[in-house]
This record gives sequence, C-alpha cells and structure tokens, in this order.
Amino acid sequence: MGSVNRNTLLQDEATMSEKSGELEKKLAEIDKKLDQLLKLHTKPLHRRAFVPKTLTSLPEHLRKTALAIATMGEATAKQVAAKTGRTRAAESDYLNQLADRDFLKKQRMGREVHFQVFALYAMCPLCGARVPMTLDRCTACGTLLAKQRK
Ligand SMILES: [Zn+2]
Repeated sequence: MGSVNRNTLLQDEATMSEKSGELEKKLAEIDKKLDQLLKLHTKPLHRRAFVPKTLTSLPEHLRKTALAIATMGEATAKQVAAKTGRTRAAESDYLNQLADRDFLKKQRMGREVHFQVFALYAMCPLCGARVPMTLDRCTACGTLLAKQRK
C-alpha cells in the first residue's frame, strides 16, 4: 500500500513539474509580450511625463528670469530685476512661479525673500545622465528633453 501511494505521488509530481514547466514557459511568453506592450504604450507617455525641468521648457519670460538667477545661484527679486532690466514686481512674480515649479527654493530672510537655484541639472529620463538645464538635448544619448520652440 505504501509503495502504491509513493508511485502515485511520484507520478503526480512528474505531471506537476511537467505542467509547471509549461506554465513557466507560458508565463515567460506572457511576460515578454507584456513587456513589449508596456514599452509600446508607456514610452511616449513616459517621455512626456518625465520631461525633465530644463529651462528650455519654460516660457520665454520665465526662462529669462531663470537664466539670470542661474548665474547668481541665489538672489532677491531686486537683484534679478537689476540683471534683467525688468521691474522688481515682475521678477518677484516670475521668481515665485519658478519656485512653484520647483526650479527655485524660496527662503525668507528677515524682510527679504531670497530665491536659490535648486539644481543646474535635469535628469535624462532615458539614460539618467545629468543634463545642464540650459540644454534641450541629453548630452549622453541625444534625447530631446524639451519641446523645441522656434
Ligand atoms: Zn540621455
């Protein structure tokens, strides 16, 4: 009786491992297909969703402010205004917009508000290289990082 049971068990095991082998193959196939599907579907989205914050993605008036403060590292609206030749009020508005977009860190120091440049680099979504914010193409893989404007 014991040996009969063992034989059945062995047989079951054999069929099971055979089945699981098939299953694994199937799963691998599905996995592959899913991967391909995901690649097809997510790439354009992915690219758009992760467009790094390069300055080129900014509207012209904000880009001017961003470039001005990028050369200073940290500045008040007044200092930026002196550099761009626009009014302090306008620069204050633009700097706050840049802070809202996470380009700048806003810091209140007494009665003055200082804006600091967060990072001068954006990250390429495809290869992960650090790309200077002022560029619109990845220097490593050549991916266009921001919509090119005329
Ligand atoms: Zn890249």
